[in-house]
Amino acid sequence: MKLPAPELHIRAVEMQLLKCPFCGLRSETEFHFATEAGKPRPEPADDTSAEKWNEYLHLQNALGDEVSEIWVHLTCGEFFLLKRNTRTREVLDCSALPGRDT
Ligand SMILES: [Zn+2]
Repeated sequence: MKLPAPELHIRAVEMQLLKCPFCGLRSETEFHFATEAGKPRPEPADDTSAEKWNEYLHLQNALGDEVSEIWVHLTCGEFFLLKRNTRTREVLDCSALPGRDT
């Protein structure tokens, strides 16, 4: 008796375009998430435990309708501020970090 072929559940994910404030619209594959914006860095760094560094680097507190994050455009190497809705993936705003001219 031949068993039915397993169903494949492949869902196509639409490629998203993100806007680098310096280069314009580019494929999301050219970008990398850096960190939440405004997240306080553990200080003093030398006295911070590995557990605290792990929480700072890998746990994200801000999820929701409008979060502010720091992203880097890998092609030009510039870090910038990205505001987005993490539920819908909608990009709300992209801007240079304070003190950086575009
Ligand atoms: Zn760029």
